[in-house]
Amino acid sequence: MKILALPGDGIGPEIVNQALAVLDKIRASGFECKVVKMPIGGAGYEAFGDPLPEKTLEEAKGSDAILLGAVGGPKYDELPRHQRPEQGLLRIRKELELFANLRPAVVYQELLKASAMRSSTVEGLDLMILRELTGDIYFGQPRGQRINNRGEREGFDTMMYSESEIRRIARVGFQIARKRACKVCSVDKANVLDTSILWREVVTEVAKDYPDVELTHMYVDNAAMQLVQNPKQFDVILTGNIFGDILSDQAAMLTGSIGMLPSASLNKEGVGLFEPVHGSAPDIAQRDRANPLATILSLAMLLRYSASRGDLASKIENAVKKVLADGYRTLDIKQEGAEVIGTNRMGELVCAEL
Ligand code: NAD
Repeated sequence: MKILALPGDGIGPEIVNQALAVLDKIRASGFECKVVKMPIGGAGYEAFGDPLPEKTLEEAKGSDAILLGAVGGPKYDELPRHQRPEQGLLRIRKELELFANLRPAVVYQELLKASAMRSSTVEGLDLMILRELTGDIYFGQPRGQRINNRGEREGFDTMMYSESEIRRIARVGFQIARKRACKVCSVDKANVLDTSILWREVVTEVAKDYPDVELTHMYVDNAAMQLVQNPKQFDVILTGNIFGDILSDQAAMLTGSIGMLPSASLNKEGVGLFEPVHGSAPDIAQRDRANPLATILSLAMLLRYSASRGDLASKIENAVKKVLADGYRTLDIKQEGAEVIGTNRMGELVCAEL
């Protein structure tokens, strides 16, 4: 397996280094892979004047999976838009046609108190939001601003999904559910939107190929409410781009800690980009203060979804749980009575546990 590591900016290099140390441990147990490191974001701009250098993109296209840290920083804020770090990320997602975005929301027993929610509501929570990433109102045409016939400005966007786009994301949803608790809840707004009516029809058709997976449907407004009231009813939430954008951030906050959240974006060949949900945290960069666990857990997702090695992924996840259970915390998740440690030590402890 060929893995491309893209450390990026800010805390990116520190947290990716820790994840690569974990990968070294996994390799020592017999998992074969080749790892290449390339610049992206601000680092790409510094090295080649481009946030997604040609060489990085070429390498990405020849890789089976990509592990990314984060991009961006105040240093690059004044650059013209096409040279800004986040353009590197947007372009690589587009070039690789990463249409399926997976965001797990897991509440670790040891971090139960970090959630703003009542413990009984989120204790044991383990859900997955699957968001379609390349269609919907964010990309539909026409869009723009115009002067209407009353002479005032109006803005407009087009919500649109084709049958094939819905079908391919639905398939991913059912396949993921098979690796979990075999439940899919499809979220739409079929009581109001034509796009959602088609969404619901196609998802229902696809479900016939997965009789072992239970399918339910929910309107997005109700889903937002249910996520707060009773989030444990969900296993996989399958939804479009805009609804998923909002619900995934809401679900992330159920867990209460940004430094713990991994994510994956997959294309139809199963090639994926795996990255923590958080940004480059320039305020704590190079100070050995960043929590590397979201990146280490992103590596676990890489092994589960791009290498089909759920066994190795579980090993990493269990090692993380054990280190937390032993009372070690980085600053962002510090709790009374726990020992606060830095980025490097957290990585070392996970490796030692493995
Ligand atoms: P951020 O996620 O970088 O930071 C928000 C807060 O959370 C900060 O206080 C930070 O110190 C803290 N934090 C984030 N990750 C942490 C970790 N692993 N351990 C401990 N604390 C952590 O968001 P921001 O401050 O809005 O953005 C900073 C930069 O990151 C900007 O340039 C932004 O464009 C970029 N960004 C990049 C991505 C990405 O690469 N996918 C995502 C979001 C933001």
